[in-house]
Amino acid sequence: MIERTLFNAEHEAFRDSFRRFLAKEVAPHHEAWEEQGYVDREIWLKAGENGFLGVSLPEAYGGAAADKLFSVVQIEEISAAGFTGLGFGLHNEIVAPYILHYGTEEQKHKYLPKMVTGEIVGAIAMTEPSAGSDLQGVKATAIRQSDHFVLNGSKTFITNGWHADVVVVVAKTGPAAGAKGTSLLMVERGMAGFEKGKRLKKLGLKAQDTSELFFDNVKVPADHLLGGEAQLNRGFICLMEQLPWERLQIAIQAIAAAQSAIDWTVAYVKERQVFGQAVAAYQNTRYTLAELQTQVQVARVFVDKCTDLLMHGKLDTATASMAKYWTSDLQCKVMDECVQLFGGYGYMWEYPITRAYADARVQRIYGGTNEIMKEVISRSMGLPSR
Ligand SMILES: Cc1cc2nc3c(=O)[nH]c(=O)nc-3n(C[C@H](O)[C@H](O)[C@H](O)COP(=O)(O)OP(=O)(O)OC[C@H]3O[C@@H](n4cnc5c(N)ncnc54)[C@H](O)[C@@H]3O)c2cc1C
Repeated sequence: MIERTLFNAEHEAFRDSFRRFLAKEVAPHHEAWEEQGYVDREIWLKAGENGFLGVSLPEAYGGAAADKLFSVVQIEEISAAGFTGLGFGLHNEIVAPYILHYGTEEQKHKYLPKMVTGEIVGAIAMTEPSAGSDLQGVKATAIRQSDHFVLNGSKTFITNGWHADVVVVVAKTGPAAGAKGTSLLMVERGMAGFEKGKRLKKLGLKAQDTSELFFDNVKVPADHLLGGEAQLNRGFICLMEQLPWERLQIAIQAIAAAQSAIDWTVAYVKERQVFGQAVAAYQNTRYTLAELQTQVQVARVFVDKCTDLLMHGKLDTATASMAKYWTSDLQCKVMDECVQLFGGYGYMWEYPITRAYADARVQRIYGGTNEIMKEVISRSMGLPSR
């Protein structure tokens, strides 16, 4: 295997301690959380107490000012273990960065320290029942009336939606201007007219509280416009700017999950006896696993290179889209082949490989579908768009 050169001793020490935290505080509960459809709120507070939320945020907002590689370590460890109920990645590395990069000083001080302690859980609400890939078609409106905006609309498939205390909501502040009339609003739990719908039942990510959100004439104070007047109608630009890191995170998850699946399968096929010999003894098994390992190794080198580019501010959206699409496709292929090598046990929920198979599927859908990734890549090649 090619040695990874991204991480130093501090990153690896952090990896060890985060892995121990997951083993102690998450492993014993994850199955129960899958059955109830959400993680216990307490795990957010425990993660905060142990310094595992918002590690890359500046110290002024309660973070540890750690470099992004510490976040990469966390994303890898959660994904490798299959603890997909934890919405930490979205909270730490999608919602918090929006507030950090675009928020006013007051907004940063109001939300970020409590996101670091786990007292506040964050979500981002872009998708609507009739607008997912085509975000320019968002119908939610936030119309200015003196000192507030009146927010109307509904969102769906929102990760952390049920636990969320603060939601970055994408809405049209200038409906006639299309994408150029889009803004981001900070909507808080308890605002009159803001209701959470049911937790959605899903194929995988069973412990993740993915929800619908409804906004009925919600009076959102003007100072809840993310970034204040300076960011009015700039919401779409903010969304586009954050895409490389958001998409790379999915690729990082994909590789970590795929490598775990291979490792579990290697262990299983060595033990499982069929026709008087280990499943591992069959050439088909060995060649299948050799092919999968080769592909995951190749993909990991590419993703590590993308991570390195990100660290230097050089990761572009098309390259991040390649990483997202290629690795999530590969993840699904790995899961499928590994389930096959487990035989019937690979179809039983008690086996991690079965959960990993179910969890993998959405990776090709969220964060922009893989078809949209190919649109972005082909556009970067100078090919005409639609
Ligand atoms: C578990 C889960 C968690 C999620 N979390 C969040 C969240 O936290 N916040 C949030 O805002 N959203 C979230 N989403 C929503 C997710 O980002 C969208 O589902 C995704 O972007 C696709 O949108 P859609 O579902 O409307 O599909 P559609 O846009 O309706 O797509 C349907 C099909 O058409 C294809 N298609 C669409 N446009 C094109 C095109 N131009 N060319 C070729 N093919 C095309 C798509 O690739 C897809 O195959 C989540 C979704 C899931 C399932």
